[in-house]
Amino acid sequence: AKRSGRNHYQLFEAAMNTRASERLLLAGDLRKAVEREEFFLCYQPQVCLNTGRITGMEALVRWRHPDRGLVSPAEFIPLAEETKLILPIGEWVLRTACRQNKAWQMAGYQPMRVAVNLSACQFGQPNLVAMIKKILADTGLEPRYLNLEITESITMNNVERAIATMHEINELGIGISIDDFGTGYSSLNYLKKFPIQTLKIDQSFVRDMSDLHHDAAIPTAIIAMAHSLNLKVVAEGVETEVQQQMLRERGCDEMQGYLISRPLPSDEFERLLHSMMTA
Ligand code: C2E
Ligand code: CA
Ligand code: CA
Ligand code: CA
Repeated sequence: AKRSGRNHYQLFEAAMNTRASERLLLAGDLRKAVEREEFFLCYQPQVCLNTGRITGMEALVRWRHPDRGLVSPAEFIPLAEETKLILPIGEWVLRTACRQNKAWQMAGYQPMRVAVNLSACQFGQPNLVAMIKKILADTGLEPRYLNLEITESITMNNVERAIATMHEINELGIGISIDDFGTGYSSLNYLKKFPIQTLKIDQSFVRDMSDLHHDAAIPTAIIAMAHSLNLKVVAEGVETEVQQQMLRERGCDEMQGYLISRPLPSDEFERLLHSMMTA
């Protein structure tokens, strides 16, 4: 028994080492990916639950690795955050999303918001606001057509500073959304102090609103609370008609999810815009 115990431990240790060296390899590749521009953005429409019209889209980054193929952001964003490579990647995402949105406006599509995800470590950068300002100036995108998605975790280190940064972003004319709402730990007291405009209901709560369970307790509470604070509510991960109907009945403002569309590369997203315009 003792022997097999040790073997198990050795196996475990070997697995840990493989994982660690895997990550080291991937981190090296990630550094090169920034220089080689192996990233691209997909866009997922956000739709008004009353009118069915596209009001905006979320930009989601993708990494086309030369050997591994497509690597999911769930895999490389945490690594990018640890290695601080999220700073150049995040700046590239922001610039590309703003440039693309402006290009669609210039092409004659109805102006929409583009939502961009910001990591906590980007949010803590002293030059963040100046960087955003520069990108808007360079691309010519009006600030009201940009939205920034942050999670409750950005306030973990220094709440007062985070709130001050949010105010500066608001003063530029840019809206802020709290992403994955309900999964973090920010108190309702903070929420009232945050200069934000939108709450995004996390997809785990939307998933509970299945044909089987009909469990809408949390989305119902979030929508009521958000509206009493004058915030807009976006539900994410909407996959079924039942979920859409339950959200609409509860007054949710917008939704995003596979029911409408998966995140699409820019050319496919443009085709979607085109088909909706001519529909
Ligand atoms: P997120 O910001 O919560 O984005 C929503 C995720 O849900 C996306 O995964 C999207 O593809 C997926 N999704 C959308 N609709 C549905 C649906 O109906 N059903 C299901 N099951 N999933 C749906 P994705 O693109 O893999 O991104 C994962 C996470 O990676 C994002 O979660 C975000 O936290 C992070 N991420 C993605 N792009 C960026 C970026 O440019 N910057 C930063 N900092 N983080 C990013
Ligand atoms: Ca998001
Ligand atoms: Ca989310
Ligand atoms: Ca998420």
